[in-house]
Amino acid sequence: MDTSLLIGSGFEDGTETPEQVLNPRTGETILEVPEASSGQIDRAVQAASNAFRTWSRTTPAERSEYLLKIADRIEKEADGFAALEALNCGKPINAARDDEIPAIVDCYRFFAGAVRCTPASAAGEYMEGFTSMIRRDPIGVVASIAPWNYPLMMMAWKLAPAIGGGNTVVFKPSEQTPLTALKLATILADILPEGVVNVVTGRGQTVGNALINHPKVDMVSITGDVATGKKVLEAAARSVKRTHLELGGKAPVIVYDDADISAVVEGLRAFGYYNAGQDCTAACRIYAGDKVYDNLVADLTSEVSKITYAQDDDAQNEIGPLISQRQRDRVASFVQRASEQKHMEITTGGAVHSGNGFYYQPTVVAGALQEDEIVRREVFGPVVSVTRFSDVEQAVTWANDSDYGLASSVWTKDISRAMKTAAALRYGCTWINTHFMLVNEMPHGGLKQSGYGKDMSLYALEDYTAVRHVMIAH
Ligand code: NAD
Repeated sequence: MDTSLLIGSGFEDGTETPEQVLNPRTGETILEVPEASSGQIDRAVQAASNAFRTWSRTTPAERSEYLLKIADRIEKEADGFAALEALNCGKPINAARDDEIPAIVDCYRFFAGAVRCTPASAAGEYMEGFTSMIRRDPIGVVASIAPWNYPLMMMAWKLAPAIGGGNTVVFKPSEQTPLTALKLATILADILPEGVVNVVTGRGQTVGNALINHPKVDMVSITGDVATGKKVLEAAARSVKRTHLELGGKAPVIVYDDADISAVVEGLRAFGYYNAGQDCTAACRIYAGDKVYDNLVADLTSEVSKITYAQDDDAQNEIGPLISQRQRDRVASFVQRASEQKHMEITTGGAVHSGNGFYYQPTVVAGALQEDEIVRREVFGPVVSVTRFSDVEQAVTWANDSDYGLASSVWTKDISRAMKTAAALRYGCTWINTHFMLVNEMPHGGLKQSGYGKDMSLYALEDYTAVRHVMIAH
């Protein structure tokens, strides 16, 4: 496939060191993608800056039309996109095609509608003799930097509100998963005016670093690790750029004694292990009430041991491998350290899969305590810990006792307890008797070190536009 960068309306090869893009199911190289040079990054930013002059003046209806066209093309080429995403990320093809692509298409369609009905305060005479009105104007050139876990979806979450809001973009996919972004670049070049979206490939320390420090970049939007988010903030402080940060997560799941345990177990099997746990909202940190703890651990262990992966017939696979050997080894080392502590038990999994690829066995760690590393740090793999609690207040305190603040869930039949707990949790999202479900109409984003950028929903459109006041003297 073509691995060219999109700069303005032209495609050109990156001129710097190529990155090996691997198939995580086999560990073999799919192809090499050369990195953009600093000159190419400059030209991409300049192309976005030039395009901003006209793109920022298009009407919402015009931008909406473009977003609808992008959605239609992705939908038309759904099989091709899904196959590429499955190849590059190791995702089961059914998950890529049936879960992700429809949500991606819907994201562009949602913002196509949303840009036409941005809410604001009413214009009016707030001081006698003067009329005030609010404008929501684009910010300028946005550098958008994506992670490897949902490459095309993260691209949709970043591009749709940014260009819908009238900004222009230089997009950098993860160096590990650039393939669907490169395919989408060829479609974007067909549909959009020159320079509205530019796509450059390369590593974080080089291309990413050049983008976040670039004087002509007005805003940086990044989804990634907390440590990367901090680097973005340091760079942004030098030129007071706007930032949109979507960082890691360590989602607590509070299971009260009256919860429907079969629903909890079914939910955890799906929401704790989807995408091999490489999900910032993964249901990975369970707090189970005293009375249900033993049954929950037993049933969860049994269900998780049945999760299918690494089957030759991909239609049978529920989860794929980790993205890289490095990530798999990282996951393995977390579980290894947990297994060395006497109070914890690995009730299923706990080992690297013996065949090809970067697979790790779906794992349950029971008996974990609040101070344990496995409870506190983001593992980003198919590993769920279970901690026992006896006091409701304690469960909420432990759930909140985390540097992360992205997603959480509470499971109970008592609606009043559910609502009280939801109100007390300090997370960007709390699900009740479910987990993981996202809709384009609702915001996704964190508190604390999970960042503060909102993806999806009208709130994302707010993040990618600036509120301005215009006042006229009568
Ligand atoms: P990462 O931080 O290593 O990389 C993310 C992106 O940032 C990549 O494109 C990378 O090249 C770039 N990058 C890295 N260093 C950089 C630097 N110094 N300057 C500029 N760019 C740089 O994260 P990852 O390993 O790709 O993704 C996993 C992380 O992303 C996890 O922590 C996960 O929780 C988080 N994540 C969060 C969300 C969310 O919505 N909050 C969604 C998905 C993933």
